[in-house]
Amino acid sequence: MLNLLEGYKGSVEINGNAYSDLKAAVQSLKGFEGELTIVLNKGAKIKESASVANTNYTENKVQEIQGSPIYKIKVRQYMTKPASPEFDFHNKWNNGSPMPMRIMVGRKLKETQGMVQMELWGEITEEVTHSCMKCGKRLTNPVSKFFGIGPECGGHNYTNPFETEEELKGAVNDMQEQLKEIKWTGWIIKSAIEEEVYLEDRRLD
Ligand SMILES: [Zn+2]
Repeated sequence: MLNLLEGYKGSVEINGNAYSDLKAAVQSLKGFEGELTIVLNKGAKIKESASVANTNYTENKVQEIQGSPIYKIKVRQYMTKPASPEFDFHNKWNNGSPMPMRIMVGRKLKETQGMVQMELWGEITEEVTHSCMKCGKRLTNPVSKFFGIGPECGGHNYTNPFETEEELKGAVNDMQEQLKEIKWTGWIIKSAIEEEVYLEDRRLD
């Protein structure tokens, strides 16, 4: 089985033991009889995005952004993950606080070539939202779509239909109030911004 992998460059994990390369694995498994579970390049994707994230963001001077319009942004999931040895961005730039939600609304304060500092909050901006604002997962429940947040992330149960439209609207308004209390100001890696929509009808107060 290991012969099939000859020439493979990258980390190998076999039966739960990590090896730096295939040669090391073959050596230590000499004479081994039995079933092998082989995991290749474990964690490589995470490391890759983290190393991309950890480069190029300190290169340039900080520029103030005056009179920023209001945007709705969606970030990649790693911006909502706590700081770790592989991804220490939030420790370096945001006092250890990751973004609380993947979809947020707010304005730009400052930027560098690779990062933008934003003042953000939670907000339902459309009547129907198709992905969970917290985790980014696709919403399927029609009621959850009004709330813009799935039952798991919202810690609620939307399986019971509301009796009237007023009742539903009232509940959505309550959620809107709660979301607006979720505030976060910090630096975001520009390449982590997956979607950015300029909310045209909004003005700074
Ligand atoms: Zn969610």
